[in-house]
Amino acid sequence: MSKAIYPGSFDPITNGHLDVLKKALGVFDEVVVLVADNPNKKSRFSLESRLIMAREAVKDIEGVSVASTSGLTVDFAKKENTVNIIRGLRNSLDYDYELKLAREYKKMEPTISMCFFIANKEYADLSSSKIHELFLKGKDISKFVPKSVIDEYKKR
Ligand code: ADP
Repeated sequence: MSKAIYPGSFDPITNGHLDVLKKALGVFDEVVVLVADNPNKKSRFSLESRLIMAREAVKDIEGVSVASTSGLTVDFAKKENTVNIIRGLRNSLDYDYELKLAREYKKMEPTISMCFFIANKEYADLSSSKIHELFLKGKDISKFVPKSVIDEYKKR
């Protein structure tokens, strides 16, 4: 069974994230969505809400589970017995950021193998921050996020 970790803030999870996840399942049998628990990074949704939204969004996708860690992603990967880390790329800004991150991971754990999936054109401009901005402006976000995210926003 091949396995990979898909780490991120998922604040909130979007259809762009889900698209990367589905692409990854074409390569790996099992993918763990790892929701970042970083108290130093200000998030829009609590860890609990981000986990609820992600879990609900992937509940019908075989081979996917959702977890969180306050530790290092590379340590989590080791604990899960995998060296594969998935990330998504939308543009050259992402590329620059991801390259830096990949080098950091490699420095911490040389066996790590990064696997990047390119965003589909329709998701290339989609980000969690864009969703939040649209929501704050009262726009319809239902085309861009799973229902679980709409449900969480309704509670606000
Ligand atoms: P982080 O704060 O760790 O970057 P994000 O939740 O913003 O967490 O993103 C997690 C990963 O998913 C990143 O590699 C990011 O580039 C990728 N990603 C985010 N949105 C999209 C999208 N619309 N299409 C493809 N990849 C995406």
